Amino acid sequence: MKQENLVIIGSGPAGWTAGIYASRANLNPVVFAGQMPGGLLTQTTEVENFPGFPDGINGFDLMDAMQKQAEKFHTRIEYDFIESVIFSDGGKQVLKTQSGTEIEARAVIIATGAAPRWPGIPSEAKFRNHGLSACATCDGAFYRNVPVAVIGGGDSAMEEATFLTRFASKVFVVHRRHELRASKIMAERAMSNPKIEFVWDSVAEEILGDRAVQGLRVKNVQTGILTDLAVEGIFAAMGHVPNTAIFRDRIALDEKGFVKLEGATSLTSCRGVFAAGDCADPRYRQAITAAAMGCRAAIDAERYLAG
Ligand code: NDP
Repeated sequence: MKQENLVIIGSGPAGWTAGIYASRANLNPVVFAGQMPGGLLTQTTEVENFPGFPDGINGFDLMDAMQKQAEKFHTRIEYDFIESVIFSDGGKQVLKTQSGTEIEARAVIIATGAAPRWPGIPSEAKFRNHGLSACATCDGAFYRNVPVAVIGGGDSAMEEATFLTRFASKVFVVHRRHELRASKIMAERAMSNPKIEFVWDSVAEEILGDRAVQGLRVKNVQTGILTDLAVEGIFAAMGHVPNTAIFRDRIALDEKGFVKLEGATSLTSCRGVFAAGDCADPRYRQAITAAAMGCRAAIDAERYLAG
């Protein structure tokens, strides 16, 4: 069995930041890059809200720069996928990779991210990140003076719809029920915004357009009637699914599968196992907050390993 000091699972902003801090602290970390090296940001286009880049930076380039910075301090990288784990409170952590390698680690940082929930309709793959986005904060400013649609009825959908009214000429909120899941205050703010129109009891049926989005066909689930909304951008705000399936029954997760942390730390329910980024953050889900959580996790791991 391979021995490691610190294994970091995941190579998004949380994973690489943990790598930078841990390698500078001489913890000799290894990052398992996972199924999508670089994480969700490699799927976006321009990142305009990461501090330090006044002209914006391509998501892929940002992740490449983070990786290079981690490697500069000798963070090692394995292009493999952790398939299963057996955690022991304060003991040795055992991990098995897809390629069959077994690893025993003194400490582990989980930074496996979360995947946005997509509508699951034909033509979705074609437009994903090219007209169909899961992040209004990231992509909203690209839709100035054109109509857009937001799918979902939770706080994210209300927040994104309200945010999008700064740019878009009109925002349709397409929700599958006639009652919002969102908190009262967020719902009221969205409902009183004259630029927002609610499309109730409706689900996305098809994205219209050849190369660019030209509309969203929605189906009323009560009447079956199809309506085409003339929009140029579509935002999925249907919640996120944390990538934590392999940790179920190994550490405490909340009811939606996000890793439960001890207060404002990176400590999980198992000593020696830490978590950072979107897999442990149902609320903010930004590159910068994930990076900050990666920093915390490396510092917590350093203290744990020193103890
Ligand atoms: P939620 O899980 O709260 O809401 C997801 C929404 O998407 C629901 O309205 C749900 O419909 C809908 N949905 C889910 N799956 C489908 C589907 N297959 N087809 C159609 N619609 C679907 O996720 P959010 O991201 O909105 O919020 C996550 C957490 O973050 C919450 O706790 C929220 O309060 C918090 N948050 C807080 C904010 C704030 O306070 N400023 C801002 C943003 C998020 P249905 O209602 O029918 O289930």
